[in-house]
Amino acid sequence: MGSLPPSPAKEDAHVGTPSFSAAQGPSHAARYCAQVLEALCQGCGNCARACPRQAIAVVAKKARVQSTLCDGCETCLDHCLNGALTFVACP
Ligand code: SF4
Ligand code: SF4
Repeated sequence: MGSLPPSPAKEDAHVGTPSFSAAQGPSHAARYCAQVLEALCQGCGNCARACPRQAIAVVAKKARVQSTLCDGCETCLDHCLNGALTFVACP
């Protein structure tokens, strides 16, 4: 019963993907910072020793990242044997 409603015309609209131009200045569109997963951190300090920006300190046997110093280079990630580092959008 009843006829099918007319299906909306499928328009292949041009998708307006914003393009980021490097000429638009030094904006950090998505900056990522290291974050410590405390439940996994053993406080070994490998990450802190490896960080070229001294952005990690071990406090009370847990690494802590100072996000204002972290540039997201991921060096610490390579040095953590416990999988206790992850990367999130910087605060
Ligand atoms: S990502 Fe780089 S700068 Fe940031 S804490 Fe890790 S080693 Fe340091
Ligand atoms: S290397 Fe990993 S386990 Fe060691 S202090 Fe850093 S985050 Fe914690």
